[in-house]
Amino acid sequence: MPILRLAIATPLRRLFDYLPPAGLDAAAVTALQPGCRVLAPFGARQVCGVLIEVAEDSDVPADKLRPALEILDTAPLVSTPMLTLCQWAAEYYRHPAGEVLAAAFPRGLRRGKSSAADTEPVWQLSERGRGLPEGALQKAPRQAELLAALQDRGAARWQQLVAAGHSAATRRSLLQKGLIEETRRPLEPGAAHWHAGPPLSPEQAAALDGINSDKFATFLLHGVTGSGKTEVYLKLVERALAAGRQALLLVPEIGLTPQLAERLARRFDAEIAALHSGLADGAREAAWEAARSGRAHIVIGTRSAVFASLARPGLIVVDEEHDASFKQQDGFRYSARDLAVKRGQLENVPVVLGSATPSLETLHNAGAGRYRHLRLTKRIGDSQLPGVDILDIRKLPLRGGLSEGLLQAVAGELDAGNQALLFLNRRGFAPTLQCHDCGFIANCQHCDARLTLHRAAGELRCHHCEWRMPLPDRCPSCHSPALNTRGVGTEQAEAVLRSRFPDHRIHRVDRDSMQKRGAMESLMNTVNSGEPCILLGTQMLTKGHHFPGVTLVGLLDTDAALFSADFRGPERMGQLITQVAGRAGRANRPGRVILQTHYPDHPLLRTLLEQGYDDYAERLLEERKALQLPPYGQLLMLRAEAASLDSAEQFLARLRQAAEPGSAQLIGPLPSPMQRRGGRFRAQLLGLARHRSALQRLAVQLVSAAEAAPQGKRLRWSLDIDPLES
Ligand code: ADP
Ligand code: ZN
Ligand code: ZN
Repeated sequence: MPILRLAIATPLRRLFDYLPPAGLDAAAVTALQPGCRVLAPFGARQVCGVLIEVAEDSDVPADKLRPALEILDTAPLVSTPMLTLCQWAAEYYRHPAGEVLAAAFPRGLRRGKSSAADTEPVWQLSERGRGLPEGALQKAPRQAELLAALQDRGAARWQQLVAAGHSAATRRSLLQKGLIEETRRPLEPGAAHWHAGPPLSPEQAAALDGINSDKFATFLLHGVTGSGKTEVYLKLVERALAAGRQALLLVPEIGLTPQLAERLARRFDAEIAALHSGLADGAREAAWEAARSGRAHIVIGTRSAVFASLARPGLIVVDEEHDASFKQQDGFRYSARDLAVKRGQLENVPVVLGSATPSLETLHNAGAGRYRHLRLTKRIGDSQLPGVDILDIRKLPLRGGLSEGLLQAVAGELDAGNQALLFLNRRGFAPTLQCHDCGFIANCQHCDARLTLHRAAGELRCHHCEWRMPLPDRCPSCHSPALNTRGVGTEQAEAVLRSRFPDHRIHRVDRDSMQKRGAMESLMNTVNSGEPCILLGTQMLTKGHHFPGVTLVGLLDTDAALFSADFRGPERMGQLITQVAGRAGRANRPGRVILQTHYPDHPLLRTLLEQGYDDYAERLLEERKALQLPPYGQLLMLRAEAASLDSAEQFLARLRQAAEPGSAQLIGPLPSPMQRRGGRFRAQLLGLARHRSALQRLAVQLVSAAEAAPQGKRLRWSLDIDPLES
């Protein structure tokens, strides 16, 4: 009897067997293809699973097997290589296959909604719309604009407007007024066109030549900021499209990196689908379908786009591959960069990892010959990479975290008509509020963390959970009014800059100031208009932006990274400083970088600034090797969160006892770096192994012990393979 084996999104790490739906004959059952969705009963619910295989028989006794209810798709929604990728990821990350597959679908389809892949809506003028007198829609300018587009230029222009953000509501109003009509037509990939970019520099040309494969191979495109990596991506996309294939580009955060999307749109007259978390369900589904059906020529997306099926994959690019946002930090904890490489192998297409500051993992893989290492060492044109000047701020007075030397340098640039970029990776006004009379410090009630003062909002906020409270005017402990702040955040630095430079615009760029959609884009437009100004911001400023008018970059405080407890701290610091510094002196103005520090002689800082990121990374790799840390050793983390630290630790101790690590090593249970977070106590076990296979065995043991442990039901636990935080 044929059995349908389904992946269902539950926490259980197994597949589920069903009988075929009633009424489906044997031939139809054997013809079913993996990757179709199947509606099935699950307990008292109905769920939508994905068919993994049609099996011969089941371990489940025949009288316990229930029939599935309905086959939802006539053709697989997930391509075979993607199905394999999901199963591989489920194994590798020890995560339930059903949940992994759920990541591969937009929400509606995950719940069984029918797939509209085969048709798309088209709109045309109705008879009434054609006969509409001039100026009839004066009161509804957006509707008038849409209608005019349809009248003048036909459907193509109209689709462009819709894609550019004309809302469905406008469209609906026109439909309701009977001015337009909607029909559906089958989807077909249109032809893509593009115009030639600039002639490549010799280094770019050599890199492009080096990536001369249409089969699987992984390339590290390692080029300093402004060396023309993006231009190489565009050429590779061209190549894929010319061969009739699709290109997938993964970026850290689309909102923060609109420039790649923009450059694609300018270069290519083609269907570009964007997939990111900011999309409404409908838009996400449409983009996903465009990718899957093959209608989209280019797919650009954030980490979850690594799971978007492509009808004709031809290229995968991971831009800023070192960026931590490619790692999902909760639920299904995967690395989109690593999965992109695996996907390239399964789909047999080239994978290009690009960065000015590659991760140590990727450098190691390149060094070992697994990836081809291509370098772009020079910036395009005459633009020079700036040198970094260390500004020793020991004993110097600071205002808002700024030394007089840095303020004067900023003033000099503004006077010369230039722009300055200041980097401070801490938002809010101050990270600590303290009572001067009794020493009280405002802490979060739910986390082992201090509350950050947000002065404009008049609040204290926890940056680790959602907790916030109004700013007190007296000490909650001794009622003294002598409340002082300690430390500096962007809000405070902004206030100081405003009083010092009242005639210039100061743009603050952090999560608080950039909440509105499109805020970054409009900021970029203002800044790139070239007027002298100051950009002040957090990490948000480091992500791939070009600020051609910026000639001075100042780093206010990166010292904390020198003493990070996390072994990845120095790697991140090197990437951050190099990336921020790279924002200066693009175009043809020379740039300069000033780094304020209390530790001008710190050896790590010296290596980075005197020898550059590549040598610095080399040195970090030697240290990792000596300590057998990743990428030389393999790491996993099993974390437990419970109502008390004791129960979290007891649970982990039990897992530790149950495991036979063999050649792997288990460390812990230990309290997590932030022991209490969001009201729960956290502890962890670390597993370290020389070889992947030993780590995998350990992961299997730990997971089955955790699933078997009676406490496992009462507390939360999670496994992180290749964790980025430890
Ligand atoms: P990266 O991605 O390495 O930071 P980009 O591709 O953005 O570098 O290139 C930096 C700047 O140089 C951009 O303004 C880009 O348009 C320009 N550029 C890139 N390649 C060339 C080229 N071959 N000729 C002229 N300009 C180029
Ligand atoms: Zn007090
Ligand atoms: Zn908190």
